[in-house]
Amino acid sequence: MSSVAPEKGRPFEEILAELDSFGVNDPKYKDAKTWSLVYYLNEEYTDFLQEAYGRYFSANGLNPTAFKSLKRLEKEVLKFTAELFHVDDEACGVMTSCGTESCMLAVKTYRDLGRSRGIKKPEMIIPETAHVAWDKGSEYFGVKTRRAPLDKDFKVDIKAVEKMINKNTVMILGAAPEYPHGIIDPIEELGKLAKKHNIPLHVDACVGGYILPFMEKAGYELPLWDFRVEGVTSISADIHKYGFAAKGASCILYRNVDYFKHQVFVNESWPGGLFASPAFLGTRPGGAYAAAWAAIQANGIEGYTELADRTIKVAEALKKGIKEIGCFEIIGEPKASLFAYRSTDSSVNIFALGDVMEEKGWHIDRIQRPDALHAMVTAPHDKVVEDYLKDLRDGVEYVRQHPELADSGQAATYGLVSHLPLRGMVRKQVLDIFANSYKLNAEEIDLSDSDSVNPAESGGEEKKSLVDKIISWYVKKTSK
Ligand SMILES: *Cc1c(COP(=O)(O)O)cnc(C)c1O
Repeated sequence: MSSVAPEKGRPFEEILAELDSFGVNDPKYKDAKTWSLVYYLNEEYTDFLQEAYGRYFSANGLNPTAFKSLKRLEKEVLKFTAELFHVDDEACGVMTSCGTESCMLAVKTYRDLGRSRGIKKPEMIIPETAHVAWDKGSEYFGVKTRRAPLDKDFKVDIKAVEKMINKNTVMILGAAPEYPHGIIDPIEELGKLAKKHNIPLHVDACVGGYILPFMEKAGYELPLWDFRVEGVTSISADIHKYGFAAKGASCILYRNVDYFKHQVFVNESWPGGLFASPAFLGTRPGGAYAAAWAAIQANGIEGYTELADRTIKVAEALKKGIKEIGCFEIIGEPKASLFAYRSTDSSVNIFALGDVMEEKGWHIDRIQRPDALHAMVTAPHDKVVEDYLKDLRDGVEYVRQHPELADSGQAATYGLVSHLPLRGMVRKQVLDIFANSYKLNAEEIDLSDSDSVNPAESGGEEKKSLVDKIISWYVKKTSK
């Protein structure tokens, strides 16, 4: 007997209806209420992508000589990307399943290139704001990270990077833009350093790769960040973000095959046959490549350019409206479609405001150091700019009248967790709680939505968010 599988199979319709019912409390991305995680245009477009995905639903990109269709789709997506990033046909790359995979592959590649140059204790220099995927790559592949500090504009500090370069440096990183504040690192300066010291330079354009080139076409001024910068040796870009493809599609492109070679895995002696693989995955999802290709065909250069233009106009309108409220500061000078804003008024606790906005149905990320709210803007947000700003103004008033909010809900827990000492202990605690949440008999944990304002009063360990749990652990620990 199983508690999940029925004894006899059920009708498709009934199953699909039940699947729909599971999602009723999910973020309302179709109403443009989410400011992270989802890149959604409209129903018609989504149906079309699903069709495209479906045509290659069962096809497997594992063996590139079997499904020649997939090899072709992948190559065309990469060619399109190479043209956007201004690199010639010497370029070389693969589609991967996500930005994290693309970034981690770069770590592996440059570690192995470093090894071939005799480096035994590899290190990479990454900006303070680099995506956590790079830390993950560091852990998985044993490449030590050195986090370079930021300058006053929240770009990576070039002088600090240069100081960190040593004989073990296998790679330098810049982002275009970084995720937390939407700031483009000074890639041209990084390129000069990379060339001078003969060290590979990767640009993480996971979020920016399919919007920055179209912003440029739409006439926005941007610093150079792609292969036009000489020292840049590779770029990662997620077509499942601003390329509006189906999830499961990213790219990594190298300037030439000499770098890429270090990414490829070969086993010539496996009893199952001669084996070569370009990326992490074994079975590779044909549908994701087909949908990415279809997205390119459906939008075209003009479509993407219009989307980019609309998106930046929305982002600018939001930033302007937020500044006009009078108690916020945009962090740095983000030129792309993401930004973060912090409070400049001690009576407006930014995380309390986050809670109030969430009450109003918005799904917004909180960021830390400095504490701020985040927005990843897409074109369809144009219909909610006024609503968002109105709710924000009302929220500010509400938070001012209710200072106690800063000590409750997520505001309290986020505020505290980001400032707790003993980071190593916090880390261990997060790890324990998180790993245990994957036990099949675990209660649900929740990284964001906590309704247990005061864990002690809400009755025991149930229904507590991850941050709540860390706080109660910390309180117990320090009260001993
Ligand atoms: C989103 C993102 C990633 C990771 O991409 P996933 O598809 O979520 O794995 C890496 N770097 C940057 C800058 C990103 O914005």
